Amino acid sequence: MKCLLCPIEVYEFREPNLCDTHLKEDIRRRRNVHGKRCPSCYAHKPVIEYDRNARQWDGLQSYCRACNGLRRTLDLSTWHTVRDALRKANADKV
Ligand SMILES: [Zn+2]
Ligand SMILES: [Zn+2]
Repeated sequence: MKCLLCPIEVYEFREPNLCDTHLKEDIRRRRNVHGKRCPSCYAHKPVIEYDRNARQWDGLQSYCRACNGLRRTLDLSTWHTVRDALRKANADKV
């Protein structure tokens, strides 16, 4: 059987029938289809709220854009205060 998306042979039975590379992509897409949770502010946001990062396993920055922006502009102690406030605000949605 060949991969559904490329000519690579797939020897084991899989559902869907995808090669290792495409299977990983598929899992990644499914997992993020409803967005993901920012580990910084605990808010659950759609994928478009995250910048791309090719080095991450899912191809996205782990923190949301808002958090990344704040982290860059605020000094560390201010950022921690802001982050804790955001976490508290989003804690009920976790
Ligand atoms: Zn493939
Ligand atoms: Zn965030």
